[in-house]
Amino acid sequence: NTVLAGHGLVKKYGSTTALSGVDVEVGERDSLAIMGPSGSGKSTLLHTLAGIVRPDGGQVLLRSERSETGVPPGEGWERIDKLGENRLSALRRKRFGFVFQFGQLLPELPAEENVALPLMLEGMPRGRAVERARRWFAPLGIDGLEKRRPGQLSGGQAQRVAIARALVVEPDVVFADEPTGALDQTTSTEVVRLLTSVTREQGAALVMVTHDADVAAHCDRVLQVRDGLITHYTQYTAA
Ligand code: ADP
Ligand code: ADP
Repeated sequence: NTVLAGHGLVKKYGSTTALSGVDVEVGERDSLAIMGPSGSGKSTLLHTLAGIVRPDGGQVLLRSERSETGVPPGEGWERIDKLGENRLSALRRKRFGFVFQFGQLLPELPAEENVALPLMLEGMPRGRAVERARRWFAPLGIDGLEKRRPGQLSGGQAQRVAIARALVVEPDVVFADEPTGALDQTTSTEVVRLLTSVTREQGAALVMVTHDADVAAHCDRVLQVRDGLITHYTQYTAA
């Protein structure tokens, strides 16, 4: 049930090799943490899988969307590293969700409109988008905060809003880059628990970069990256 795979990924920045032949796969409801020292290629790997960075070698494959009949069209896979910019950004908006460290919410918009934004970008009318957005507040434990602006939220609350925004399009894959990086330990644990459980319930895969081993331990698998290569792979027993 693989939904996203990278095969032989290579990425170079001038004389720096950020990825030197990485193979990675994630399945539906599967969560993967990427760990490693600073400069080891974690962000480059996440951004390459997310179609933000184009690799110099290898392939990024995303399972094709199911057609009306439930059967994926064509070969069943899309080479996203080969897509043009326009199709790629459309695909990212529709099939991927993103959670970053902080500062990702628009400060002038109430929480519910921040969550509704990806739907509005897809052309959904504001009223319907906000109504859909509101459904995510209870599962994420932020009921009652719909009208608050980001400045009136705690760090943990803001990250829950960011998770809601990532999930509102019902993506196939959620990418999280240091999602707990700005939070204290207790809040980190709460946020990563919600992120992994709600992503799984929604049926999406999760790919997360983190420095925090306690946060990574909430994922099904942990990849250790060093100098652009996977050096270690941990498989936890299914939760
Ligand atoms: P990490 O996320 O593990 O800190 P990165 O993926 O950000 O590592 O970086 C891997 C290597 O690639 C580092 O040596 C970094 O300096 C280099 N690198 C990353 N992005 C760029 C870029 N846009 N231009 C030049 N070098 C980069
Ligand atoms: P690091 O984890 O190495 O500190 P950052 O998380 O700051 O790196 O991310 C740096 C890269 O992430 C940038 O090159 C940028 O392209 C990408 N990036 C950051 N935020 C976004 C965003 N909201 N949408 C798309 N790309 C982003």
